[in-house]
Amino acid sequence: MNEHDNSLANKTIPWVGGKYEGQLSNNVPHGSGRLLLPDGTRYEGEWKEGKPHGRGMLCYASGAEYTGDFASGKRHGYGVYAKPDGVLIRGLWEKGQLVKQLEELPQGKDIKPPFTDRLPDKDRKMFSPAIKVENLSHWYGNLQAVKEISFDVYPGEILGFLGPNGAGKSTTIKVLTGQLALKGGSAQILGRDIGKDDPEIQSQIGVTFEEKNLYLEMTALENLDFFASLFGIRNPGSTEALKRVGLADRAKDRVSNYSKGMRQRLMIARAFINKPKVLFLDEPTDGLDPVTAAAIRKTIREEADRGAAVLLTTHNMFEADELSDRVAFINEGEIVALDTAENLKLKYGKRSVRVRLREGDTVREEKLPLDGEKSSARLSELAASPDLMTIHTEEATLEAIFIRLTGRGLVG
Ligand code: ADP
Repeated sequence: MNEHDNSLANKTIPWVGGKYEGQLSNNVPHGSGRLLLPDGTRYEGEWKEGKPHGRGMLCYASGAEYTGDFASGKRHGYGVYAKPDGVLIRGLWEKGQLVKQLEELPQGKDIKPPFTDRLPDKDRKMFSPAIKVENLSHWYGNLQAVKEISFDVYPGEILGFLGPNGAGKSTTIKVLTGQLALKGGSAQILGRDIGKDDPEIQSQIGVTFEEKNLYLEMTALENLDFFASLFGIRNPGSTEALKRVGLADRAKDRVSNYSKGMRQRLMIARAFINKPKVLFLDEPTDGLDPVTAAAIRKTIREEADRGAAVLLTTHNMFEADELSDRVAFINEGEIVALDTAENLKLKYGKRSVRVRLREGDTVREEKLPLDGEKSSARLSELAASPDLMTIHTEEATLEAIFIRLTGRGLVG
C-alpha cells in the first residue's frame, strides 16, 4: 500500500476551514502540499501528520512571512522571518521562538533560501535529511553491485562516496536518480519515495548525466537556457554559471566543438542551473586538469553552502578529504565506514613521523610510527643526529585507511 494518497485535488480541511492541495496520509496533510486559510494565511511546504514539518514557507495574514524549517507546526530550525515592513531576521528557532538571531537584514536585501550557514553537525541534523537511503541493494542479473547500504545526506552537506572502480558508486547514484529501477531497500529524496515519476522532485535535483543529454548543435549558453526553461526558470544566470565552471569565453561555441573536459564542465553547470536542493555528482572532476578541478570543487562547495545536499562519488582520496563533510568508504557494494575524514583518521589511521637525514651526498628518509616506545627512542636518537635535515609528522591518508579496512587500494 502506498503511504501517501497522491491525489492533488483540492481538499477542505474541516478543522481549519482551509483549502489544501497536496499529499495526504490517513486523510491529513502528510508529505508536500499547500494550505490556504480563509484569512489569507498560506503555508506551502512539507507536512507531517497534519502539521507543517520540514521545509516550508508560511505567509501570515499580517503580511509577515517565514521561510525555513518547521517541526510540529512551529518554526523550528533555521529560517528567515520577514516582517511586514520588509526587515528580515535570519535565525535559529525553537518551538516557534527565536532562540538565536544570526543577522538582521535591511529591507529589500535579496537573500535566497534555504539560508543555511555551514552548520555544525548537531545543528545540521535538526533538518530532515535531504537524501535518506535504507538497505539499498541493486543487482545486474546475478551480480549484486550494491549490498544493503544505508546513509543520510543533510541539507548543506557533502557526502563523498570514496571507492575504487566497480565498487558500486555509480549504480547507487543511478538508482537514486531514477536511471535504474529500485530493486531492493528504500530511499527518499526530500521526504518523497524514489521510484515514482515525481516531477516536483525532478525539479529539485541536479544530476550530472551522461554526455548524450547535451544538445551538440546548440551553444553552451543555449543548452543551459533551454534546460532551465524546462523548469520554468526564465533568467537562469547561464553566463554566470558558465563562468563558474571556466567556460565563459566559450559560451557561444557549439557544444559539438567542445572537448570532453569542456562537456563535463558544462554538465556540471547544467546540474546547478535550477538551484537544486539535492545534487548527485558522479566523479565530477575525473579527467579534468588540476586548475579546472579546483574550480569545480569550489563551485560544489558553494552549492552546499547555499544549502544543497550533495552526494558525490570519487576514487580520488584528496578530493574526498578536501571536499566532503563526511566520507563513505564503499567497497564491493558495501559501505565499510562512514564518518568525517577527521574521525576516520583518528579512529583507523596511524600517525607517523618522516625523518630526512643527510647521508654523504644523498638524502635518506626514515618513517616511524608515532606510537610505541621503540619509535620514541629511535626518534630521540635521530633528533640528536648532526645529519638530521627535517622531521615531519604525517597523518594517515584516506587511501591508507581504505587499504587497512578493505585490503585493497582505490586505483587499479
Ligand atoms: P563504480 O561506480 O564504483 O565504479 P559501478 O556502480 O559502475 O561501480 O559498478 C558496480 C558493479 O556493477 C561492477 O562490478 C560493475 O562491473 C557492475 N556493473 C555496472 N554496470 C553494469 C551493467 N550495466 N551491467 C552489468 N554489470 C554492471
